[in-house]
Amino acid sequence: MDAQRSIRRQISCVGIGLHSGNKVNLTLKPAPADYGIRFRRTDLGDHEVPATVHHLAGIQLATGLASNEVSVETVEHLLAALVSVGIDNIIIELNSPEVPIMDGSAAPFIYLIHEAGVKQLQVPRKYQKIVRPIAISRGDKRIALFPSDHFKVTYSISYDHPLLRHQSRTLRITEESFAEEVAPARTFTFLKDVEMLRQNGLALGGSLENAIVLGETGVLNNALRFDDEFVRHKLLDAVGDLALVGFPVIVHLVAHRAGHALHTEFAARILEETHAWRLVQSPIDTAVLPAAAAAANRIAPRLAN
Ligand SMILES: [Zn+2]
Repeated sequence: MDAQRSIRRQISCVGIGLHSGNKVNLTLKPAPADYGIRFRRTDLGDHEVPATVHHLAGIQLATGLASNEVSVETVEHLLAALVSVGIDNIIIELNSPEVPIMDGSAAPFIYLIHEAGVKQLQVPRKYQKIVRPIAISRGDKRIALFPSDHFKVTYSISYDHPLLRHQSRTLRITEESFAEEVAPARTFTFLKDVEMLRQNGLALGGSLENAIVLGETGVLNNALRFDDEFVRHKLLDAVGDLALVGFPVIVHLVAHRAGHALHTEFAARILEETHAWRLVQSPIDTAVLPAAAAAANRIAPRLAN
């Protein structure tokens, strides 16, 4: 039996909101079994917003949640960090609508969680195991899930930019692989979009300290952390957005040119397609249907191109 997890002790940090540019206090607090991941706005009477697709709010540049008009925004990097460490239950206190952007990656959150320590709770964890493929596409953007014995993500991107014509990566997501190969990858934006964002009152906290900025032919930052840091960050976003299904998933996620809007639409679709998954207490206690596995092998390489 795998036990549910929380953090051992409370921990705090201060950062700025990417869009507001305001200073934000973030505190992670332990929570009991079956509590789930919930945001709590300390500036609004401790109103709670659970991190599930049922509370999805407007999705444009980042993923937002809301409950009774109370919102939290830019949740995906923190959620990805929590999921990768296997934290099922936690209270995330914020005194502002935005989760602080930190350095634009999930690495500072992984550090914070490790500092707080991981605590095993005496209640079994439930995994969501996909037994039949689910897919949606919008134009040339595609996203699909296939049965797998572990959590794996294949992501590919292609943009009209010399550095980003094509990047693709497949990774089995474990605590270690995520921390080393995905968490440090920073969010990125195009210089030509920055001015438009600012005119709309967005990205006011954005800088080369918390985002990779792409000019016409290269990056404005001194150096990349990985040659393919861009696709690694998309993989990070997908892991964070998929966390909104509310359970750790045992699945192969394949996405091509997707983004927060498609990730989160897909997370909601997964919960609707109840015939396509079951809840299990161990990643390996349900046999994968042979027909579904064969379909995954046929479709995955095509999606990854
Ligand atoms: Zn991101």
